[in-house]
Amino acid sequence: MYVVTINQDTCEGCGECADNCPASILEMVDGKAQVTGELDDCLGCETCMSVCPSGAVKVEES
Ligand code: SF4
Ligand code: SF4
Repeated sequence: MYVVTINQDTCEGCGECADNCPASILEMVDGKAQVTGELDDCLGCETCMSVCPSGAVKVEES
């Protein structure tokens, strides 16, 4: 399983992570990205991390 953490302070609200997550578990909430789906569905692809311009996303295997 993977743990996806989004730093709410450094997220710039671009929406790229949510738009590009193949598992559709990320959503924009009040202008910031959040994990709103099941982490069980995360593929660990790290796309969210790659597309983030501010390094706000962290994907770790737990
Ligand atoms: S690692 Fe991949 S599947 Fe998991 S949240 Fe990021 S983009 Fe989505
Ligand atoms: S890609 Fe990064 S800056 Fe853009 S919404 Fe996602 S976490 Fe925020």
